[in-house]
Amino acid sequence: MVIIMNPEATSQNIAEVIKAIKSVGLDAKIMEGAQQKIVGVIGDKTKLASVAIDALPGVESSVAISKSYKLASREFHPQSSVVDVSGVPIGGGVPVVMAGPCAVESREQLLKAAQIVKDGGAQFLRGGAYKPRTSPYSFQGLEVEGLKYLAEAREVTGLRIVTEVTTVEGIAPVAEYADMLQIGARNMQNFGLLKEVGKCKRPVLLKRGLAATIDEWLNAAEYIMNAGNPNVVLCERGIRTYETYTRNTLDLSAVAAVKHLSHLPIIVDPSHGTGKWRMVKPMALAAIAAGADGLMMEVHPNPARALSDGQQSLTPEHYRTVMNGIKKLSAFLREENLLTLDEG
Ligand code: PEP
Ligand code: MN
Repeated sequence: MVIIMNPEATSQNIAEVIKAIKSVGLDAKIMEGAQQKIVGVIGDKTKLASVAIDALPGVESSVAISKSYKLASREFHPQSSVVDVSGVPIGGGVPVVMAGPCAVESREQLLKAAQIVKDGGAQFLRGGAYKPRTSPYSFQGLEVEGLKYLAEAREVTGLRIVTEVTTVEGIAPVAEYADMLQIGARNMQNFGLLKEVGKCKRPVLLKRGLAATIDEWLNAAEYIMNAGNPNVVLCERGIRTYETYTRNTLDLSAVAAVKHLSHLPIIVDPSHGTGKWRMVKPMALAAIAAGADGLMMEVHPNPARALSDGQQSLTPEHYRTVMNGIKKLSAFLREENLLTLDEG
């Protein structure tokens, strides 16, 4: 439930509302709406039956939230959220780019990739140190050694680091070296992991599960937020369908759906979404046109020699071309004001 305060409500009025909510054992959160303050109630709203909330001074109305996720819903938080990752805002109107190799393979490979990524204009370096591979015989990642190379690459380039965490035990080392923790598609409903990253202070990039509905995905975000971490960014990376030409079916309509249902920023990964480097540019541009807050793309100094996902990784040259297109398109969209949300 959300309690909408009228524009003249005083801080004393808000304090009284929060006191009433807490008196029945529920939790409250204050949110700044466009014109007025809103108080969100977390927990079983039937407990509020004994409190005449609507009659309290300063209260305009109260509205039940229809979704099973609350903190992640736009009903609860009408304004779009901006997630700050070590000084880089995600969701503020300027799309961010996270680029880099699928996996950290060696110090040399990563530092080379980082320089390419930086020169092309991205803000984040991606690269897995813990790789969730389909086969146990495939390259599994350099683990802590890989995290150290990522941290070194940040020192050299100033890029922010986003990298995947696959286990609860991995959270502490990844949080020590990275700016943002990535929850991969395969772990989107690993509820134990979600609760633990929720206790962590680092922002989280939550990828959509291979077969997850948007509702399940937003509920996964809710797990993280409910555990205390509001800094969640969603990432559409394609879902399984009957199509086999592409690795996954990139669901760009999820961007528009999520923008309507949630206040959380959403980025798109056209690399895993298509599995083909040739499709990365058109889908990256389409994602930006659809209103995505950023992109995640795989780039490798030499894709033909990549230990994973070479077929979907951009060469340095292709990466520069894609970045050029993204810059031009997003400047045009902003100039023409084409991305304003229609909240109706
Ligand atoms: C990745 O981004 O490295 C990755 C493994 O992607 P996904 O979890 O989307 O498959
Ligand atoms: Mn990959």
